[in-house]
Amino acid sequence: MSVLPCPRGAHRDWPLLLLFFKIVDHPPDPAHRTGDRSRFDFDRDELASLLEGEPRYRVDQVWDGLYRQAVDPADMTNLPKDLRQHLDGILRPALGLLTESVSDSGDTVKWLWSLSDGRQVETVLMVYPDRVTACVSSQAGCAMGCGFCATGQGGFDRHLTAGEIVEQVVRAVRRGRQAGRRVSNVVFMGMGEPLANYDRTWAAIRRLHDDVGIGARHITISTVGVVPGIERMAREDLPVNLAVSLHAANDKLRDELVPINRRYPLGALSQACARYLEAKGRRLSFEWALMDGVNDRTVDAAELAAYARPLRAHVNLIPLNPTPGYPAIGTPPHRVSTFAELVRSLGTNVTIRRNRGTDIDAACGQLRASLRPGPVPIAAPTAAAEAISGPAP
Ligand code: SF4
Repeated sequence: MSVLPCPRGAHRDWPLLLLFFKIVDHPPDPAHRTGDRSRFDFDRDELASLLEGEPRYRVDQVWDGLYRQAVDPADMTNLPKDLRQHLDGILRPALGLLTESVSDSGDTVKWLWSLSDGRQVETVLMVYPDRVTACVSSQAGCAMGCGFCATGQGGFDRHLTAGEIVEQVVRAVRRGRQAGRRVSNVVFMGMGEPLANYDRTWAAIRRLHDDVGIGARHITISTVGVVPGIERMAREDLPVNLAVSLHAANDKLRDELVPINRRYPLGALSQACARYLEAKGRRLSFEWALMDGVNDRTVDAAELAAYARPLRAHVNLIPLNPTPGYPAIGTPPHRVSTFAELVRSLGTNVTIRRNRGTDIDAACGQLRASLRPGPVPIAAPTAAAEAISGPAP
């Protein structure tokens, strides 16, 4: 399902496969059926096909091992050793660890992964007293071109497959277990615009819900305002939470900050959000990255409150994380409080979110940006439109 067919994974597996065929009588050359797909890209039927010749219950054992127990095939001790080796060779992981960073407080872990084609994505695990949240990427890079965002500054590489998304959560689940905690929530707030990669994102959500055991009400899709995607979500059967990265509540400023607004302006966005609320009855939240002198004025607070109130949206204020490619800085703490009080006084629920893990570049896209040499390109707004309307590769 990878958008960049690449035989490297299969080549890498040849020595192990040849060794295996000398020992065990399994169907020959399973690698030609796995292609460049990773272990979470297979559905049950495909897994059954890979396990041809094995008792039927093996499919359940392997599926349970991958999704519920979150273990590698090599560690599925309820399987015969030769089968474990066989599966380890053909069910390759999607994510190779490049770096792991842990915040000074120890409650935030960030991974930079390498994909099979060398693209890089990030995942963040955040541990709170009452919940553990995995923040996952849906694309390598992003085409939406929000200039203040490190991922947007780095441009678009490609969509992630459903398996690449699911594996981020599974890796976070494993890490959470090491600390005696269970990942309870998943948010699509990492790299990429999930609704520009709708089919794969939704396939991943379905798998997280059905097989990993994360309830729909504990899954949040964060979009910059891709209206057709919100409308599709309203027709789905899983009532996930919707978060919109708003950042401005008048079209002139939002056109600048969030270029997709030129295609789906605030009026259309508000209507799509209203339809989603009506269909799903879930709480809507607006994310607002407070930028000093840009969107933290009194008039911005008034516009935000007026926009959020009819939708009964909850506003999350987050001082902008510094990025190398954008001159504005985050609003200072005392003015964040003033802004929040003003919005609240105008009848809108608001929470100030602290920046987690800025000491480890834990804001979206920052770690990849910090490792990428040379100047950071800015994605053109037209690329955003292509990513939304173009056919899935
Ligand atoms: S803010 Fe979100 S949508 Fe905008 S460029 Fe960054 S990752 Fe993409």
